[in-house]
Amino acid sequence: MEKIDQCPVCQGSSFSNYLNVEDFTVSRQEFKIQQCNTCNFLLTNPRPAEAEIGAFYQSDAYISHHDDAKDLMSRVYGQVRNYTLQQKLKMINELVPAKGSLLDIGCGTGAFLHTCQQDGWKIIGTEPDPDARLQAEQKVGSPIHAQIQGLPHADNSFDIISMWHVLEHVHRLNETLSWLRSKLKTSGKILIAVPNPESHDAQVFGKYWAAYDVPRHLYHFTKNTMNKLLANHGLLIHSIQPMWFDAFYVSMLSTKYQSGNTDLIRSLSTGIKSNFKGRKRADHRNNTSSLIYIITKK
Ligand SMILES: [Zn+2]
Repeated sequence: MEKIDQCPVCQGSSFSNYLNVEDFTVSRQEFKIQQCNTCNFLLTNPRPAEAEIGAFYQSDAYISHHDDAKDLMSRVYGQVRNYTLQQKLKMINELVPAKGSLLDIGCGTGAFLHTCQQDGWKIIGTEPDPDARLQAEQKVGSPIHAQIQGLPHADNSFDIISMWHVLEHVHRLNETLSWLRSKLKTSGKILIAVPNPESHDAQVFGKYWAAYDVPRHLYHFTKNTMNKLLANHGLLIHSIQPMWFDAFYVSMLSTKYQSGNTDLIRSLSTGIKSNFKGRKRADHRNNTSSLIYIITKK
């Protein structure tokens, strides 16, 4: 385990305990989420070091790494995934109508890369998990790199860099963000999807909220702390988009962690309520269970 003594966002050195959360999917150990007393950044602290975190991914619960649809929920998940893949594609085509070069970091089994490739994008992917990486390589027919450090690309190479539920898993946070900025074209966009601990479902489930997902999630970004972190790297939030389906999936897992049963009615009603409360209104920005930050160079 490693203890973070200095806030990665503001360099502050004073933290308060925010919430104790159990790892419900793999180890059943309890971890602390702490909050920086200066900038309010939320982080899992202490956390497993980079060399030891692999053990905390040893579970079939990591559904994004497996493609076989065994039961009803997996089939529903598959349908939703196909829909969200098309929504993501639509989003990047609106941001860069000419299509171009796209890097997907943490591409899993390559579903998003494959969708973009078929649409005419030039695709590059990274994925640390060897099994998922192999499936991705078979899907797109070209090599996938284990991590960004091995990529041969020069500065200003990419029109789009995407990280779908990935940044919260990255140990070297500041190093990664400066890498992203250097490799992005001046007119390029970075898409970062992360859970939103200020969403309605996070408030309802508290320490049972499945998207805390400790210790795999090292950080728990709010709009404020994301904004500060990006500004440190000369990056700017261009817009924030909602992710409508995460509220249902996260509520389903959270009710299971809280009560031991999958309560579909409660999951559905919390999901609907969370999306209703998280929708964009005149007075504030989107606030759904997960958010997509669309980011530009300053
Ligand atoms: Zn701080």
